[in-house]
Parts: sequence; structure tokens; C-alpha cells
Amino acid sequence: MATDAGIGIGSGPRSVGRAVMGGHRSAREGAATRPFVVEVAALRRQPGSRRHVVVRAPLFGLEVSGSRIDPVEDVVFDAVLESVSGGILVTATARAPWHGPCRRCLEEARGELEAEVCELCLEVEDDDDSYRVAGDLLDLAPLARDACILELPLAPLCSADCRGICPSCGANRNLEPCSCGVASDPRWASLDLLVGDDMGADAKANE
Ligand SMILES: [Zn+2]
Ligand SMILES: [Zn+2]
Repeated sequence: MATDAGIGIGSGPRSVGRAVMGGHRSAREGAATRPFVVEVAALRRQPGSRRHVVVRAPLFGLEVSGSRIDPVEDVVFDAVLESVSGGILVTATARAPWHGPCRRCLEEARGELEAEVCELCLEVEDDDDSYRVAGDLLDLAPLARDACILELPLAPLCSADCRGICPSCGANRNLEPCSCGVASDPRWASLDLLVGDDMGADAKANE
């Protein structure tokens, strides 16, 4: 009650200053335990200098409409940091294994994503959307996380020629031929061709 009341009270320049310092301190402590936080003091002292870093560590909360990167799996973030005016330019590749339900058969689909990153991390806080250099530390986790999220498949396929589930009996047509005859109904044959060829249709149209 009385102790809780202290939280959230104290606006004004003085407490803002303290809040910034507190955030900076916790980031520094985090450098030892958070693998995506890298020390960039030496880099910032030499504009134009570069540093290659490879981080291999899990990230949490990487999931988009069923496709996900498990938090037990490593995201590999292979980055070149370059000291530029006003910040640090990060050029990187993020790689991670993903899995999710196949959009046709609902069985597990798996793959390896690879996402390219090219972002400027600013030293000044003038834009809420930008990535930041906090003091001498740069946290690469937001860059790696955003890159992975954008690259996760929204509608994964277990394989390009997945035959899907029979809409009538629910059989997985990858595992067994369907006996209810829906697929072999001649009235649907031309549609089946279209569906079966939906990947190739665009390529044909471009010929
Ligand atoms: Zn499938
Ligand atoms: Zn069937």
C-alpha cells in the first residue's frame, strides 16, 4: 500500500534522469547474461571501424499465426557492426529453424529461415520506432527478433506437393489414398488439376 504508492510517482526532469541511468545500468548488467547485448564503446570511438559478431542464442516469443521458432532453438545472428555518424549500422543475417502446421494437411511443417538485416541503430532517442545504442551497449535482440518475425511463413507447407486433407472423410491424402471418391469425381477433375498446379500456374502464365 504505502510502499506500492512509490511506483509511478515522480515525474519531472530529475526522475526522468534517474530512470535513464537505471535503464542503462540494467542494460550493462545484462551484458553478461544477455548474449544479444554487445559492447560497442571501442567501435564508437573510431568512426568507420567495423566489427564482426556472431551471436547464437534463443529468443522468446517468435511466433506468427502458428509458425514459430522454439525458445529452445538457437537463433544465429551473424552481423557486421559499423560505426557511422550518429550510430551503428548493423548488416546481418539471422538464421533459425521454424515449425508450424501445414496449411493443407495440418501436419508439422519445418524449415530453416534466413532473414537479411540492414538497420541503423541510433545513439539519440528521437524516434520511438528506431533501434537504439544505449550508452556503450547495443542490444541486437530487437533486430534479430523483428527480422525472424517478418520471415516466418504465414501459411507453411510441409512440402510443395502436399496433397492435403480430404474435405469429405478427413483422410490425410499424403498417407493414404482417399476411398470416398471426392478427388476422383470427374466433375472436379479439372479443378483438381488447377489446385494441384497452383504453384506452377504463375510460371506457365509467364512463359
Ligand atoms: Zn502438408
Ligand atoms: Zn475422402
